[in-house]
Amino acid sequence: MSWKENVRQVEPYTPGEQPKEQNVIKLNTNENPYGPSERVQNCIMDYDLLRKYPDPAALDLVNALAEYHHVDPAQVFVGVGSDDVLGMAFLTFFNSDRPILFPDITYSFYPVWAELYRIPTRTPALTEDFRIDPSDYRLENGGVVFPNPNAPTARLLPLEEVEQIISANPDVVVIVDEAYIDFAPEGSSALSLVDKYDNLLVVRTFSKSRSMAGLRIGYAIGQKELIACMQAVKYSYNSYTMNRPSILYGCASVADDAYFRETTGKITATREWFTKELTDLGFQVIPSAANFVFASHGTIPAEEIFIKARERGIFFRYFKQPRIDNYLRITIGTDEEMRVVADFLKNNLT
Ligand SMILES: *Cc1c(COP(=O)(O)O)cnc(C)c1O
Repeated sequence: MSWKENVRQVEPYTPGEQPKEQNVIKLNTNENPYGPSERVQNCIMDYDLLRKYPDPAALDLVNALAEYHHVDPAQVFVGVGSDDVLGMAFLTFFNSDRPILFPDITYSFYPVWAELYRIPTRTPALTEDFRIDPSDYRLENGGVVFPNPNAPTARLLPLEEVEQIISANPDVVVIVDEAYIDFAPEGSSALSLVDKYDNLLVVRTFSKSRSMAGLRIGYAIGQKELIACMQAVKYSYNSYTMNRPSILYGCASVADDAYFRETTGKITATREWFTKELTDLGFQVIPSAANFVFASHGTIPAEEIFIKARERGIFFRYFKQPRIDNYLRITIGTDEEMRVVADFLKNNLT
């Protein structure tokens, strides 16, 4: 007998590489090239307050988000990045012996939490062209989770089809992970369905559209009863998840809607331009509703382009896994960065 027999063995999530070199073009973890709002920079943090515990309910931020999304504060749960919120939601809602459902190609953290919490899973395959087929989500299950737009494909599931999945599963919680929804056309978010469905939890993050990945803020919106269940689990685990600077800077970001719209608008415009460039260079690009594109070249293997680009200090994300091992995931950076990338590709695809 050894303590090693009783260790919780898990295969951890592998995040994208964070290169140590300076002057690289980093397009591998879907960070936002534009900094956070100036209001965040101009915030005065009272350092003496750091000796005191933060508000465990993070009410300032909860209230700001409730007002922004026109919901009751009791419908908002905040956490340390949406990874924290999603992990907490798995722990709270996925407790049956039936498998939870998520697509075969999706955010690779879902299988990791499932393993950590010993939740059985089933992974319906995306269609040939990487669409989620709602009819695959009608089997008996213990819950459903998917990103919309999906990652790493960037493809958006139309709201009517999101609703089909939610309405077909009234007895389990359906989590819609909207990490990239701010780059999708207006009217795509499942937030508009929260009043109608008591089994819907919508998860958002400040890491991409609000350019604050380094601060770690995520949140969930659902009906009050769902949120109360998550809070009970959170307070049984760690009451003080949100630190004081995060609450302060998070509120400042939410207050600057003009900057938020301007920068998300710039990124979607650059995405459209870059998609056309890629297409002209012989890439097939999955229609993107996110701040990244998922593309495959007609003749040159993705891994080869990935390695060559890396040598030039251009970082893409490459997944060596079935079905997508000939695709590159490329984050949308500034116009200048994407011009350099387009030129690099032009000169290296022959
Ligand atoms: C980036 C991402 C997250 C997590 O983001 P946080 O930085 O933890 O808020 C969650 N889901 C998907 C699909 C993502 O791409």
